[in-house]
Amino acid sequence: MSADASVTSSPPTSSESPANVRFEDLGLGPQLLQAVKDAGYSTPTPIQAQGIPPVLKGRDVIGIAQTGTGKTASFTLPMIEILARGRAKARMPRTLILEPTRELAAQVAESFEKYGKHHKLSMALLIGGVSFDDQDKKLDRGVDVLIATPGRLLDHFERGKLMLSGVQVLVIDEADRMLDMGFIPDVERIAKLIPFTRQTLFYSATMPPEIQRLTDQFLQGPVRIEVSKPATAATTITQIAVSVPADDWAKREALRRLVREEDVKNAIVFCNRKRDVDIVAKSLQKHGFSAAALHGDLDQSVRTKTLDAFRAGDIRLLVASDVAARGLDIPAVS
Ligand code: AMP
Repeated sequence: MSADASVTSSPPTSSESPANVRFEDLGLGPQLLQAVKDAGYSTPTPIQAQGIPPVLKGRDVIGIAQTGTGKTASFTLPMIEILARGRAKARMPRTLILEPTRELAAQVAESFEKYGKHHKLSMALLIGGVSFDDQDKKLDRGVDVLIATPGRLLDHFERGKLMLSGVQVLVIDEADRMLDMGFIPDVERIAKLIPFTRQTLFYSATMPPEIQRLTDQFLQGPVRIEVSKPATAATTITQIAVSVPADDWAKREALRRLVREEDVKNAIVFCNRKRDVDIVAKSLQKHGFSAAALHGDLDQSVRTKTLDAFRAGDIRLLVASDVAARGLDIPAVS
């Protein structure tokens, strides 16, 4: 089977991460690097690699990216770095994040807690279902980060509980969903209440004309970053489908044939179930291939050893469940 007969591959686009970018290269301080490590991330996603440096430099950013691309960390990480340089003042949040739904707002709050765990930052959440009183008390004392849905925020503002004149960074997240939900007039009102000297970070999965108009009006000289949908494979991967009878023996036979015929230096074989991972790995070994299994039921120490051996080239075929292999960073898998 010839790969180029059945495959069209496209050249890398601007949505690719620059090769080999590491979190250490992005300008984040040691506490954030530790938090990133604690979260288990090995490399920045494209929106993080491209988005974090301009945010740290104070630039406005338009990120065209969906949930699942790592966009939340692309703005929370540099915001924490920026916030670490100053102190909160009573009633004047220093940064404001607008989210269309309370679920998204709560998720962003969780991200702040996760990435900000080595910093002392205060946060308030103005969303439906969270009591006004508690959040009022926090706002009175002063918060570094205020996360809100637009309607709730305006309610608070109108009751005189809040000043927006101290906001240095404004994040408008999921702008196209805000549009679908009819929140754009509220967002425009809020943006006008915040000093224009602020930094604005704007994220949307799509850019319809109404959204484009908003960015023209509220952003200054933005850096535009567009990343591909999270579900799409990297453009460096050539995809080939092989049709085989739906029986396990035939599938294993087809796998062996492919590994023999194609120019495979090393490979990862994914299986849906842990049981299949074991079966396929054992079968490959029995047929004389250098193979090992990787799944969640194995001891962490075994998993680490297996991965190290695979990276070092001592194991040629890694048979893995998708869960165990998620986010693995293994360079040069042929
Ligand atoms: P988001 O697009 O912000 O909703 O993030 C999607 C998921 O990716 C979240 O569960 C994050 O914890 C995770 N994530 C974010 N950045 C990274 C990274 N650099 N490596 C691995 N996972 C990440």
